[in-house]
Amino acid sequence: MRVALIYDANFMTRIGFIGLGNMGRPMASNLVRKGESVVVHDVNTAPVNALVGLGAQKATSVREVAATSDIVFTMLPTTAVVEEVIGGAGGVLEHARADSVIVDMSTIDPLVTDRLAAAAAAKGIGFADAPVGRLAGHAERGESLFMVGASPETFARIRPLLDKMGTTVHHCGEPGAGMRTKLVNNYLAIVSCAFNAEAIALTQRFGLDLAKTLDVIHGTTATNGQLKIAWPSKVFKGDTAPGFTIDLAHKDLTLIVEAANAVKVPVPIAAVARESFSTARAAGKGDQDFSAMLDVLCDAAGIERARL
Ligand code: NAD
Repeated sequence: MRVALIYDANFMTRIGFIGLGNMGRPMASNLVRKGESVVVHDVNTAPVNALVGLGAQKATSVREVAATSDIVFTMLPTTAVVEEVIGGAGGVLEHARADSVIVDMSTIDPLVTDRLAAAAAAKGIGFADAPVGRLAGHAERGESLFMVGASPETFARIRPLLDKMGTTVHHCGEPGAGMRTKLVNNYLAIVSCAFNAEAIALTQRFGLDLAKTLDVIHGTTATNGQLKIAWPSKVFKGDTAPGFTIDLAHKDLTLIVEAANAVKVPVPIAAVARESFSTARAAGKGDQDFSAMLDVLCDAAGIERARL
């Protein structure tokens, strides 16, 4: 046994990475660039080929990733996809190696996180939820923030890898605590986006100077990270490529309303903001960056789009 432990310590941890979209592709790229051995999978072949170009290995199925990895990261769009890829037939749990760890970094329904964590524990497999704060640009630069729910042992095992993808790692508690922290965080961030859109559309209608108005707002308690940090390099420049899509923001607000209602906490502002995002989706803007909520509102009101 002792020999086996020494033997293992001398071998490189083999990492699996499933889901190479706006967030997963840059995050997996940072692991590869920083010397990790990574096997990747996505239903879309373009980002898989980009990762292979950097030195990752390609897997053609979830099963192949699970069967060959010590630690499997998932960065997938929705609850349903995560449930299928991790817990479904042919999924990670079915084929995971003994003593391996699954780390779900997607933003999903925390009750499903709880179920997946329990199913992993029943098989003796480690589980962590490690949803991500900050945006795709931060992920490119290896500056993400992680909110982790995991046992202390699992957290210690995955921490060095999270450090290669980000600059800030918070251990929030046992499995499920990371996902719940993420919903609280995104409630504030996404609702800020919806009410910023209304305030800036009003700025346009009033004919105010946008730069001067922002100067004022950033000097008072009215400012917020979306307006101050995110928007100047996105919608104010006319760049509405995602980033974080309106569809995903709508998904997160739906998760927030449902998770809050499940524990009898009313969140009327989240419900109203969610329907603002529904309007944007109905206008065909679901695949744009969530800061494009501002353009949606300006267009609806027939006023000039706000640009710096
Ligand atoms: P995305 O839609 O850009 O990427 C999702 C990837 O998963 C795509 O490449 C897609 O092809 C792949 N995929 C879908 N189904 C699959 C399957 N069955 N098997 C393998 N691959 C599959 O989404 P994203 O913006 O990268 O976000 C991923 C998650 O992270 C979401 O839950 C989102 O809410 C969250 N998040 C996003 C941001 C952001 O700024 N984009 C920030 C923090 C958290």
